[in-house]
Amino acid sequence: MPGDGVLLAAPAAAEGYGEADRDIVCDVVIVGTGPGGASVARVLSAAGAKVVLLEEGPPESRFARNQGDVMRYHMQEGGAMVAAGRAYMPIASGRGVGGGTLVNSAMAWRAPDHVLNGWVELLGDERYGAKALAPLYDQLTELLGVWPTRPEISGKNNDLIVRGVRALGLEGGYVPRATPGCVGCGVCYFGCPSGGKASMNLNLLVEATRAGARIVADTKVDTVLVEGGRVVGVSGRMFHPDTRVPGGAVRVRATRTVLAAGGIGTPRLLHHAGLAERLGPAVGKGLHVHPGNAVLGICDEPIEMWKGATQGAYFHVDELPGVLPHTFSAPPEVCLGMLAPPGPEMKKAIDVLPYLCGLIVMVSDKGEGTVGAHPDGRADIRYEFSDEDVERTKKGMYWAAKVLLAGGAHTLLAPVHGVERTHTAEDLADQLSRRTLEDFMLYAAHPMSSCRMGRDPVTSVVRPDGRAHTLEGLYIADSSVFPTSLGVNPSLTTMALATAIAQGLARTG
Ligand SMILES: Cc1cc2nc3c(=O)[nH]c(=O)nc-3n(C[C@H](O)[C@H](O)[C@H](O)COP(=O)(O)OP(=O)(O)OC[C@H]3O[C@@H](n4cnc5c(N)ncnc54)[C@H](O)[C@@H]3O)c2cc1C
Ligand code: SF4
Repeated sequence: MPGDGVLLAAPAAAEGYGEADRDIVCDVVIVGTGPGGASVARVLSAAGAKVVLLEEGPPESRFARNQGDVMRYHMQEGGAMVAAGRAYMPIASGRGVGGGTLVNSAMAWRAPDHVLNGWVELLGDERYGAKALAPLYDQLTELLGVWPTRPEISGKNNDLIVRGVRALGLEGGYVPRATPGCVGCGVCYFGCPSGGKASMNLNLLVEATRAGARIVADTKVDTVLVEGGRVVGVSGRMFHPDTRVPGGAVRVRATRTVLAAGGIGTPRLLHHAGLAERLGPAVGKGLHVHPGNAVLGICDEPIEMWKGATQGAYFHVDELPGVLPHTFSAPPEVCLGMLAPPGPEMKKAIDVLPYLCGLIVMVSDKGEGTVGAHPDGRADIRYEFSDEDVERTKKGMYWAAKVLLAGGAHTLLAPVHGVERTHTAEDLADQLSRRTLEDFMLYAAHPMSSCRMGRDPVTSVVRPDGRAHTLEGLYIADSSVFPTSLGVNPSLTTMALATAIAQGLARTG
């Protein structure tokens, strides 16, 4: 039933900053506590392994309803990661015990069958096929309390989109979300003040710690320990969550080391730790990100897009496979930045804010990027757009405009340089047809595929069971192992894949 999902009230216990060094010995050390790391910890702790998780971010939620605090405490690299290329694109990744699930909108999709079955062909391994993963998806959706966004908490932005989708007879509606106790406060990107979102610190990590797993937070891992051709653990340092003053060293020796630092974090760590060459040419290659661009509408009645389930509606058109437009929602200050430059125009824009509705057009990208590391440890991200993705974004924006108008908007605006406000989707499409990639205001929050699993050590970093091709004792289990772009928001599939990898590990002892 809606609202009846399993919600574990008390967050998983985690240790935080300290000045003393910590030397730990365990069976499995996991770097990162997002969907990948949490899933591995849950399975292996239940199987009796002594598990330790290390997490760069804070041990507990440091949320406040302001962008500055979220960036500081809960976004990797202070929310300032940018992919460089023909266009510059911000890349967002969460940070803290729970990883991306702390700040994400909790849309919980299963991967499309054709994507998973394509993986089976690429990997020559049945375990990631749609049929094989179905029981894992079932188990996870039940555990997290996934349910389509309920109209009583959806809010006007989502309702308008669903109205437009239905009026046009498109496939779509309310999105399934991992939010069993959502009250529709609309601030998922700041964290969940009600505890209604099924972030990893409230479920999988609680199970893991109850089974004996230890979480050490405020700890940035910078070294992977290798002895005699085998990975034997990791080390790093604690940093004070407020002052960033360095604290004690943390050294963990383990039989198995699992990297789950995410689509940026895992290759960044391998490059920074000087292990990339040893692991082959595929480390950090083949990055996909699901780039997206918003389309906004202005309505006669107040919508207040920051109220209601943060991102709770979607649609799909058959002529655009891999394009998934879904609700755009952002705090007023972010919307304002899209509407007008500082000056008198901004005053007018403030008046418009409550009347905005929006969709973001997310594309399963054919473009690819790379992730390396700057000498100071920050990610060096490059990304090359494919022209086809730009064209699909433009077409998706046309359909998004149609949906917003059919749902009740009277005016359209797109955060694209040189595109004027308009009242028809056709005119928007015409204006977009003259714009180039550099004009768009793109954003991406789904880095993946940057340390792929595969059969060939030249094109992949780990085998289909998550084991590194060229170094014993090292495993990867997060969104970086996806063999291709996914096409839907990746949390649930990251959990399913990491669970499958961990079950394999548990079987092999
Ligand atoms: C704003 C936003 C909205 C999103 N919305 C959705 C959504 O609605 N639905 C959905 O399915 N997905 C969504 N996503 C994406 C989703 O959250 C990610 O795909 C998912 O969290 C990836 O899981 P992961 O385990 O691979 O890595 P992450 O969740 O990124 O976890 C990696 C963890 O490793 C830690 N780490 C990194 N480097 C180190 C290091 N050197 N030492 C120690 N720790 C380290 C990080 O702090 C982080 O906690 C969203 C993401 C963002 C940012
Ligand atoms: S909309 Fe509010 S209550 Fe619902 S999951 Fe997001 S933050 Fe939590």
